[in-house]
Amino acid sequence: MTDYPTTPCGSCKKPVIWTVTANGKRLPVDAQPTSDGTVALTAAGNQVRSRVVEVKFRFGRRDLHKAHFSSCPQANTWRRR
Ligand SMILES: [Zn+2]
Repeated sequence: MTDYPTTPCGSCKKPVIWTVTANGKRLPVDAQPTSDGTVALTAAGNQVRSRVVEVKFRFGRRDLHKAHFSSCPQANTWRRR
């Protein structure tokens, strides 16, 4: 469940949320939060900001997303670009 706009991944067509990291980089994350996710999302205007949560703060959370780089079956092909 998510309130953020999703886009189909260009490679595997799974819905992803495009976010902007603290460094201003674009980072796609899986639309569905998972118990082994690492990224917290916050809405900021029409952007979604992402922040990697430290391991010690992840325990028990169910609202963290996985970077799509790590779950996309096609990651090896599009990471090179
Ligand atoms: Zn993908």
